[in-house]
Amino acid sequence: MVAACWSPHRKQLANLITPTQDQCPYCNYSPCDDYHQFWGCPKLDDSPWPEVESTQKFVSMASEQVSTLPCLWLRGLLPADMCMSSPITPPVQQDVVTIYDPFGVTLDALEWLPGLYGTGASGGKWGAYHELRRCGCGVASMTGFSAPFTLQWAARFPLPGTHQSVPRAELYAIYMLVTRVKYGVLKVVSDSFVNVDMYHKGKLAALKSVNSDLWKAVFAHVEVMNIRLQIYWVPGHLDTKVIKSRVRVEDIFFALNFCADKFADQAAHESQLEMNPVSSLMFNCTLVKKIQRRSTRILVSHVEKHKYDKKFPLQSEAKPTLQHFVQASSHNL
Ligand SMILES: [Zn+2]
Repeated sequence: MVAACWSPHRKQLANLITPTQDQCPYCNYSPCDDYHQFWGCPKLDDSPWPEVESTQKFVSMASEQVSTLPCLWLRGLLPADMCMSSPITPPVQQDVVTIYDPFGVTLDALEWLPGLYGTGASGGKWGAYHELRRCGCGVASMTGFSAPFTLQWAARFPLPGTHQSVPRAELYAIYMLVTRVKYGVLKVVSDSFVNVDMYHKGKLAALKSVNSDLWKAVFAHVEVMNIRLQIYWVPGHLDTKVIKSRVRVEDIFFALNFCADKFADQAAHESQLEMNPVSSLMFNCTLVKKIQRRSTRILVSHVEKHKYDKKFPLQSEAKPTLQHFVQASSHNL
């Protein structure tokens, strides 16, 4: 699409076709240049394809801007200056930990008690766009192991650094918890299957993974401080989803996961980018995707949709049975 498929007019200018061949195959307009091919042809109004039909509203915009933004309207490329009006604010680089401690459990913010915790992470509002993603992490513990559950203690913090991904944020919550506990037995409940699975595969596998820096710190701390670390997996979002597998989930695990996720959501919410610069980028990204789909459809064919529609499957012939083979055989069976 990016200039690889030449319009008839461009071919004619390069002497690949004759001037009489430089015409639109649908309306016979000549010269049939890129603009006519993608936007100007009146036959595009009749296209049955949703990619074309839904973008006909942009024809006047394309007409006005095609001379200044040909890369956008004729090639489906977003110019750099339409990406963001100002540089994207980078993620935090340092730990910013907020502790919720209604019972006064921790005397030192850097030293957390051993015990049973839930950890969670959130990709935030713009989680689908990795440049805009700002992840939050949460850690929570309860006063007891059975209902009714009372939140005893929690912490929330944004994921620092340029590598913003939910699996890394899930691991960062575990890393933060492990490295702040100085002794004893630490049990962690996480809904991040990839991280729980990686932990159980062992140090060697973890140190080869993409987040090896965090795993290295986790294993080093456990060894130096002689902590007994146990990590359990729990299916996530059990309050809104029905799990397919018949795994019995302890109530305390569910409560810990639920609370940790809430604090992670809050941490992510606090570190989200401002709406204004992001909204124009969202609009432009959506627009360029629509232009790309439209242009691709036109290059493939914007007419004759019926050729591409799914046909009724042909009735397959009945397979011969063993009796058929017996009857067809020349042998006396
Ligand atoms: Zn035409």
